[in-house]
Amino acid sequence: MLKIYNTISRKKEIFKLEKGKKARLFVCGPTTYDFSHIGHARTYIIFDAFVKYLKHKGFKVFYLQNITDIDDKIIIRAKEKKVSPKELSLFFEKEYLKDMKNLKINSVDKYAKATDYIKEIISQINRLIEKGYGYRIKDGIYYDISKFKSYGKLSKRKVSDSYDAVSRIDDNKDKKNKGDFCLWKFSKEGEPKWKSPWGEGRPGWHIEDTAITEKYFGSQYDIHGGAYDLIFPHHEAEIAQMEAVSNKSPMVKYWMHTGFLTIEGKKMSKSLNNFITIGDFFKRHSYTELRFLVLKNLWRSPFDYSEKSINESNSALKKIEEFLKKLKSIKISYVKNCKEFNGLFKKTKEEFYSNLDDDFNTPEALASLFAFIRKLNIMIDKNLISKKESKKTFEFFKEINKVFEIIDFNKIKEEKPAYFIKKLLSQRERCRKERNWEKADEIRKKIEELGYIIEDTEQGPKLNKK
Ligand code: AMP
Repeated sequence: MLKIYNTISRKKEIFKLEKGKKARLFVCGPTTYDFSHIGHARTYIIFDAFVKYLKHKGFKVFYLQNITDIDDKIIIRAKEKKVSPKELSLFFEKEYLKDMKNLKINSVDKYAKATDYIKEIISQINRLIEKGYGYRIKDGIYYDISKFKSYGKLSKRKVSDSYDAVSRIDDNKDKKNKGDFCLWKFSKEGEPKWKSPWGEGRPGWHIEDTAITEKYFGSQYDIHGGAYDLIFPHHEAEIAQMEAVSNKSPMVKYWMHTGFLTIEGKKMSKSLNNFITIGDFFKRHSYTELRFLVLKNLWRSPFDYSEKSINESNSALKKIEEFLKKLKSIKISYVKNCKEFNGLFKKTKEEFYSNLDDDFNTPEALASLFAFIRKLNIMIDKNLISKKESKKTFEFFKEINKVFEIIDFNKIKEEKPAYFIKKLLSQRERCRKERNWEKADEIRKKIEELGYIIEDTEQGPKLNKK
């Protein structure tokens, strides 16, 4: 049974769906005014792996993501670059989709661009005005948060709380409450605009999401995700909009908020200029390295990115790859007593999946995998593992990889030392038998220079790649 931490109750809850129904998941997508960074990648890798895990467990899933292709940031950046906002956002949307593809994030069923849903957005704002939640001031239509009685239920904030240090708050001194947010912004000279019953303008940030989710899911659905910073004001505003329009609660059953990827303790963000774009990351690393680093950490805790953390993570990932290569090179076709292996294999599988069922705890699941690798490496060295057990283990790793995508199986090939290196090894053996230690040592050094370390085992010498 899968349990997941729900922000709204601040508790782990059993994930339940009505029988035969698809899990409807919506995750806030990017604002396309710049390249995406590895902080964004963290959030999207987590939801990709989570969706793949839901599918592994037999759930059917519809994964919807929006793309904010109209926003103040887009307009400002387009002006700086002397291109139209549409051109700018189209360029970065393509870059975003390319990044996602390169990261093997392929579980999203529908990317919905805000500007394709202007009709739905206008309809929702109209209903909010009719019900008394929307009001007009000079620069747009705003939402009166004091009218929504359960405002603050997700973020645990009150209407009267201060708004210092809150990002993307729509500022206007004529607002009824400090926290009122914009539903429709009247356009200024030269800005993109759409016709509406209140005048030409463009949608506010929060309304695009509820208009899109209402179109695909109706007014209630299962999971809403995003990073921690979106709890307030964004997701609080979404609840206020959708529940006010529909009179139905809750809008969403499970709220999942990912922790930040930080740099020196600070959130990686475009505004702090402390970011590494996904493209730059790929100049030195691979998708498996980023996915492994992300999944090595609990999805809702922050973690710090540094040279040290990526190097440590990479050497752990290498252990998995080396282990799989070692498994591939097993030649023994039969071992008599594989009880020990069978017990270990069963326990590892159980532990691995029960960790994922416990709040999608990927670091603990990976820890059980590493314990398995340590033990199995010893058994392989003692010739206690045959091709049959190796195949079974390999299949297990392939199964895991459908969710995690941390192994590039094209790279897992049995690495055979060249014939002449093997020949050198037999020469060394001969020298050792003849007690010609000096010569034997000389050959060992030569073999090392060629990239192999000799491991003298009870069964004879073995060549391991450096
Ligand atoms: P944005 O394009 O800034 O609206 O961000 C798109 C998504 O990435 C949102 O869910 C953000 O909360 C998330 N995000 C942005 N920065 C980070 C970060 N440093 N760590 C994790 N998630 C992030």
